[in-house]
Amino acid sequence: MNNKQEFPKSTDVLIVGAGPAGMTLAISLKQLGVDCVVIDRLPSAPDDTRAAFVQPRTLEYLRRIHVAGPMIDDGIKPRGFAFADLERDLIRLSYEGLDSPYPFLLIIPQWQTQRHLDQRFGELGGSVLRGVRLLDLVPEFPGSAATVVDSTGALRVINARFVAGCDGVRSRVRDRLGIGFPGSSPEQMFGVADVRFDGWPADRVETAFTLSPDGMLISSPLPGDMVRVVASVPPGTPAPTGHDVDQLIQTRGPGWLRNGTVTELLSSATWHVQERVATQFRHGNTFLVGDAAHTHSPAGGQGMNTGIQDAANLAWKLHHVLCLGAPESLLDSYDAERRPNAQQLIEFTHQIATLATLTGQKERQMRDDILAALSQVPGVTEALSVRFSQIAIGYGDSSEPFAPGTRVNPDIMGAEDLTWSLLTPDAAPPDLPTGFKVTVSKDVSQPVAVRPDGIVASAELVHELFGFNAAPVAVQGNGHRRLQLTHS
Ligand SMILES: Cc1cc2nc3c(=O)[nH]c(=O)nc-3n(C[C@H](O)[C@H](O)[C@H](O)COP(=O)(O)OP(=O)(O)OC[C@H]3O[C@@H](n4cnc5c(N)ncnc54)[C@H](O)[C@@H]3O)c2cc1C
Repeated sequence: MNNKQEFPKSTDVLIVGAGPAGMTLAISLKQLGVDCVVIDRLPSAPDDTRAAFVQPRTLEYLRRIHVAGPMIDDGIKPRGFAFADLERDLIRLSYEGLDSPYPFLLIIPQWQTQRHLDQRFGELGGSVLRGVRLLDLVPEFPGSAATVVDSTGALRVINARFVAGCDGVRSRVRDRLGIGFPGSSPEQMFGVADVRFDGWPADRVETAFTLSPDGMLISSPLPGDMVRVVASVPPGTPAPTGHDVDQLIQTRGPGWLRNGTVTELLSSATWHVQERVATQFRHGNTFLVGDAAHTHSPAGGQGMNTGIQDAANLAWKLHHVLCLGAPESLLDSYDAERRPNAQQLIEFTHQIATLATLTGQKERQMRDDILAALSQVPGVTEALSVRFSQIAIGYGDSSEPFAPGTRVNPDIMGAEDLTWSLLTPDAAPPDLPTGFKVTVSKDVSQPVAVRPDGIVASAELVHELFGFNAAPVAVQGNGHRRLQLTHS
């Protein structure tokens, strides 16, 4: 905060934490015209790599907030990745066939992702209040009073209609509200290092997951001629040195990497895995978003991506409640949609981490044989690619295209911002409410409304928010009705 800026006393949405989840929420709200204040206890944005993999589904949302393009320009774009043993690929997952405008994994360090998010927020006129730490949160009708310590050490109070706890795995917001964070801390630890490396093949842009007898090693190119190495290590192991990284590559790396050597250690850390999901994502007027709500193994590069999707799910709902008169009950769907997704994610990343860190010789051999065999079964690698890329995540019971709760490829409706879309086989009725972008599409046989987070809305929701009647033109197996456009 610069000296001339007045410290805010109230806001519609107080965002605690300016990590990727908090900034995605902040940009989305600002873009939608919702008043928000973002605080972060750190004096400046962190400069560590941490999450390096951005999944296609995340890019689909980041495009709507005008961040995807610059990030893609700065990153590396492999078309897939492989799980390998020391000498051969066991199973290769390709993103090339994905039904997404982004059929690649974007590799970009988290500090760069953060820089792009901060920049976009600035373009929208926002700025993060840095060096400001949340101390306490108490209800104060109709919202909360947040006590914070500002960058001079003074206590301040910000009154907020809604609060988003985007304050990471040790969330103060979660603690102050007494929300449980049950789960486990498996005996899994990972060493993470970013290095300069002499010998990375120039034509190799894909990440390699090597499953060696000594443990797992992920090796990946990073922009700027850097290399990221992640290895499972015994609990209590200190952060890897350059020599340790060389050793790990020699003992666990794929054959094509073992001729190279680390020339500079740029950063290194260890990470003790925790697998936890908050018992509630909504508590009255307060929400948990990102790592504050769920934390899991880094296997699969899902964590930051999931936090960004949480923010995408919440932003438009807050906008409807604060600016468009929607009932507050709309906000219940944030927990209903995102918490089961986090629970499934933990099961998924747990399975991957368990498979990747098997120690028994027999079990490892069996795993490798199964992976190699699965790679030959039609449809298996495609299904796994869809899973890792997150593009199939939805909130309905039916995966039939355009069923309520399913995600729609943003190219179908040319989605470039946070407006609702109406996909219709014919011209749209003239009395459609404002705010809809209409696309005539032969992909649909009847009108389909798509939410700003790319999910097909149920007819009931469209009626509730926009006043259209939803006649049961096509009753699906799950009882959801498709949309028919007639006014009530
Ligand atoms: C070493 C390491 C490697 C990782 N590698 C990967 C990876 O490869 N792939 C992946 O997907 N994920 C990875 N992660 C996890 C990933 O970094 C997180 O999932 C992601 O940062 C979560 O974003 P977030 O915005 O929810 O929380 P955070 O990024 O943790 O941001 C929370 C913010 O809240 C602020 N804050 C906290 N408390 C307060 C308070 N009381 N008041 C004000 N501000 C506060 C913090 O300063 C911070 O800026 C890694 C993490 C670590 C530590």
